[in-house]
Amino acid sequence: MTGYIQEFKDKKKPSDYHARLISELEDANKTFRAFLAFKNDSKSNEDGMPFSVKSNICVKGTETSAASKMLKGYIPPYNATSVERMLDKKFGFIGETNMDEFGFGTFGINCETPARNAFDEEYVAGGSSSGAAVATALIKYHVALAESTGGSIATPAALNGVVGFTPTYGAVSRYGLIDYANSLDKIGVMARSAHDVKEVFDTIRGRDEYDMTCVVEDIKAEKRDTLFVIDDLMKQADERIRDEFEKLLSKTEKMGYRIERINSDILGKAVEPYYIIAMAEASTTLAKYTGFKYGFQYKQFNKHYNEFFKDARENFGTEAKRRIILGTFIRSASIKDRYYSKALMVRRMIIEEMNKILKKGFIISPTFPIMTPKISEASKLTPVQNYALDLFTIPPNVGGFPHISFPYSYMDGMPVGAQLIGESANDHAIIDFVSEWEKHFDYKFKHNLGAL
Ligand code: GLN
Repeated sequence: MTGYIQEFKDKKKPSDYHARLISELEDANKTFRAFLAFKNDSKSNEDGMPFSVKSNICVKGTETSAASKMLKGYIPPYNATSVERMLDKKFGFIGETNMDEFGFGTFGINCETPARNAFDEEYVAGGSSSGAAVATALIKYHVALAESTGGSIATPAALNGVVGFTPTYGAVSRYGLIDYANSLDKIGVMARSAHDVKEVFDTIRGRDEYDMTCVVEDIKAEKRDTLFVIDDLMKQADERIRDEFEKLLSKTEKMGYRIERINSDILGKAVEPYYIIAMAEASTTLAKYTGFKYGFQYKQFNKHYNEFFKDARENFGTEAKRRIILGTFIRSASIKDRYYSKALMVRRMIIEEMNKILKKGFIISPTFPIMTPKISEASKLTPVQNYALDLFTIPPNVGGFPHISFPYSYMDGMPVGAQLIGESANDHAIIDFVSEWEKHFDYKFKHNLGAL
């Protein structure tokens, strides 16, 4: 298929198309809470293909809060580079999407008003880019800019039945991103087709004088014929997910791919170093929200130093506070070598192991190891149970490898997704794989807001 972007261009649209879409969305938002803010400027690219932006990516003139009380009311005076490039290509911004506060979460429930799954509002939307995935599942003509540190694009995309693509680390500028963990953050794309993903990725990627970490320029499309399945990871998935995934593997064999099952002890141990590194970095990136220059403006200057900061930083949510406390502990001089330095070493081993595998083929797995839980069930999990569910999405994120989640089945009426990982900079090849998959499988969408 040529994608929804092209289809939208070819359709006749009413001149107030965006205004109509936004009023439909305001209504849907009462149930699904996909958006935290709608656009303020009615003049920008009114007839452009609608795009939304995760609430941790700055859009000039629209509240960008990263779903945190700390940043409530923050209206950026500038656009993130990725947003600027979308506007230059005449995409039309519609609003900022919901998320776990600062990106801390797997279900989209670590915030004041959690987004709800587009297939059934009792179920989690997945996180942390919850709203981006729900918006993509709700709106017919729309693409989303989202962000991933450890799985925040793949997981919600899988749980809402859309395509979620996380590029190679350093391929897309992060200028204007409210950072979570600098060595892990990537801006990526969600859409209803691989074709649209590719078009948006090619729009936003490439060097940027404002982001010195954005250095990956030459993107490849080197097809691989072998799909590696990591048995050590598969063992940790629920039986029903494993059985369904086997059916996908048979289908890919019919498409001409060779399946190879391997063991990898180290990839089964990626969750721990990831959370150590992510928390250590998060505790430093959050240090700037003191209530003076950044964050909630407390303005009670007659208070004592400690009291002032304590009150101002009270505005962080529970998960953010947990990460500040644990991250600060992990970095403390006396124990740094026991956790942080070791985690960096394990990360290096994971990258080396994945490089070896990815030279020979793609890695394929389910995106999420369990059936989508209800919001009420997910809220009862302990933090450690919650973190463990990132087992499939963390390895590519820790290594900065490009990965894409795509819908491959529907179980009990809910979509399930699989994830494909490619070698660094081989981003186009994994998107092409999903394009090929789409010739064999029709995605289902329950909603088509803004249909023409
Ligand atoms: N669940 C992971 C975390 O909480 C990943 C989130 C993300 O990618 N932003 O850190």
